[in-house]
Amino acid sequence: MANIKVLSVFGTRPEAIKMAPVCRALSETGGIASVCCVTGQQRDLLPPMLAHFGIKPDYDLNIMGHNQTLTDITVNALTGLEPILREEKPDVLLCHGDTSTTLAAALAAFYQKIPVGHVEAGLRTYDRYSPYPEEMNRTVVSRLAMFHFCPTVQNKRNLEKEGVARHLYVTGNTVIDAISQTVAGDYDFSSPTLQEIVGRDGPIVLVTAHRRENYGIPLENICRAILDLTQKFPDLRVIWPEHPSPVVRGTIYPLVRGKPNIYLVGPLDVLQMHRLMAKCTFVMTDSGGLQEEAPALGKPVLVLRRETERPEAIEAGTAILAGIERERITKLACALIEDAGLYNKMASAVNPYGDGHASRRIISFLQWHFGRLAAPLDEFEVQA
Ligand code: UDP
Repeated sequence: MANIKVLSVFGTRPEAIKMAPVCRALSETGGIASVCCVTGQQRDLLPPMLAHFGIKPDYDLNIMGHNQTLTDITVNALTGLEPILREEKPDVLLCHGDTSTTLAAALAAFYQKIPVGHVEAGLRTYDRYSPYPEEMNRTVVSRLAMFHFCPTVQNKRNLEKEGVARHLYVTGNTVIDAISQTVAGDYDFSSPTLQEIVGRDGPIVLVTAHRRENYGIPLENICRAILDLTQKFPDLRVIWPEHPSPVVRGTIYPLVRGKPNIYLVGPLDVLQMHRLMAKCTFVMTDSGGLQEEAPALGKPVLVLRRETERPEAIEAGTAILAGIERERITKLACALIEDAGLYNKMASAVNPYGDGHASRRIISFLQWHFGRLAAPLDEFEVQA
């Protein structure tokens, strides 16, 4: 019987981290020919992630340009993918999440009638401009895709409500598979600076913020809340692997750079990032990935957004929607530092996002669909 040919396409840091375990598992599975194409939507952030997971892309579209617009990304990815799809003729194209790369990949495959498997399907805020453009990207991809790999039951229900009737399958989030590869055994930090900062006594808050909706005043509010915290708790360290976006740096540098106990350490490779998360006291973030990863590592999360497409952690009690106002963020962070009862309750709540076997489930589903397996693995269920 011929191999099932699976072409995986991704282009940004979070996609690489979340698709890496899938690509690795695909290449280790007999009867599957795995081909990997990166678009290079985030040129600088991608290679360290690929190197860590040992992924050598078969194709690199290298589309990232100076001041690239959403149109540039989509058009260049769409144009670049067309000949690759014609040449490779995969049985299925896998794309991930909600970026412009995801949308372009799904559309390119649809144009050639190649079935699309959407990994991390069904997340929604139901606000078309928040997150922007991600909410619309993922909504459109749900129309283009044939197989919907939903991290949670809630994501599956979202799609059912939208009338997606077939091939919905709850897998858990592949980022939890990635964590089991990055935070294993004993480890140190390869950066001596990080090793030294982490080694001191006192609470550590891990901060990231980069979303377009938080550009401007919200990001300034976040910085001011962080300054409030470091002033109130002299032994508190804030470690902020700041996003390289000039807009983010342009806002945060004048406010927090060089301030006592605030460490802007630049983008970290995934190993250091996950390990830092495992060592920190709690996380303050607007990142989607961190909202999923932190609960898996037993770390409370303050979500620095007005809404989230990841309500599961809030319902499970591992995360609080802190919003983007300085006073509320400060108040909640103080509570996490001062109220041991609250902290322990959040730190010990159940991780709703996965059990580390999402990649295996996705592959079993494809094997079943293409007639190589009698049934896919059981769907992911949260263990109480
Ligand atoms: N991440 C990383 N280094 C960093 C910041 C983030 O490895 O300096 C990882 C993080 O652990 C998560 C992913 O990148 O797996 C999240 O990426 P990002 O916050 O850019 O995007 P989002 O999750 O919001 O889509």
